[in-house]
Amino acid sequence: MTDLPKRAKIREVGPRDGFQNEPEVVATDDKVRIIDQLTKTGLTHLEVTSFVRPDVIPQLADGAEVLARIERRADVKFGVLIPNRRGLENALKLRDHFDEASFFLSSSETHNMKNVNRTVGQSLAELSGVAEDARAEGLRCVAVISTVFGCPYEGKIEPERVFEITEQLVEFGCAEIGFADTTGMANPLQVGEFFGDAFERFPNVELTAHFHNTRGQGLANVLAAVQSGCASFESSFGEMGGCPFPPGSTGNVATEDVVSMLHEMGIETGIDLPALIECSRAMQEALGRNLTSHVLTAGPVDWAGEA
Ligand code: ZN
Repeated sequence: MTDLPKRAKIREVGPRDGFQNEPEVVATDDKVRIIDQLTKTGLTHLEVTSFVRPDVIPQLADGAEVLARIERRADVKFGVLIPNRRGLENALKLRDHFDEASFFLSSSETHNMKNVNRTVGQSLAELSGVAEDARAEGLRCVAVISTVFGCPYEGKIEPERVFEITEQLVEFGCAEIGFADTTGMANPLQVGEFFGDAFERFPNVELTAHFHNTRGQGLANVLAAVQSGCASFESSFGEMGGCPFPPGSTGNVATEDVVSMLHEMGIETGIDLPALIECSRAMQEALGRNLTSHVLTAGPVDWAGEA
């Protein structure tokens, strides 16, 4: 266990990971309004959308419009998920509207094949060139590896395999590597050991944790990662999204739950928690149904009401 960090960085991925995986198609006006609200909460990093084929993911078909319309702020880094070269070309038409390009691939051959119809090697080969072009445009490159802590098709993934992939991504110039528990299979002990090893192996790379609350272990995994030195997280306001497998599963660990826990532990995020909760409320209204995050339901810890 290392000393706890004083501050943690959070990338809000709800507008991409959330909107993409919720059953409804969120109206463009609602997306723009709620993203603008999110960027006024003190969040410093936000993944806006993905430049995927609209016939594959209709929920994000308005990605370019959303990116063009949201208010650009000097204190918030905007990121876009880039699935392939075509996606990068389309995103670059709006180059001035974002700062970071995120890429993804799976550490499981079967999951990668089912997800993007490529072997992991083929994904890496394409990513190499796309990342090079993104960097030439001055974009900061972030790569997220999915199913790191377990794959629904292959079971356990060896950390060594994940580290081999990480090594290549770092070689391609990715400044930050995210490790995603795509279907919520991670446990805290595993997470602690994984990040301990990862920081030893990659001391000069920003390593990010991306947990899903599918089996209710999201916050426990955040704690385990923090205790192993991780100070960078991706999460989704309202607990939206996540890989919808199996159907009906809850989504990403909720940003307001992570922020509340970290603040209570004395770790700053720079995020105004009540303002963030208002964003999840606005989202509930837009969707016309309740979202599932704990802090949204219970409210922040209120020490004034202490008995
Ligand atoms: Zn996710």
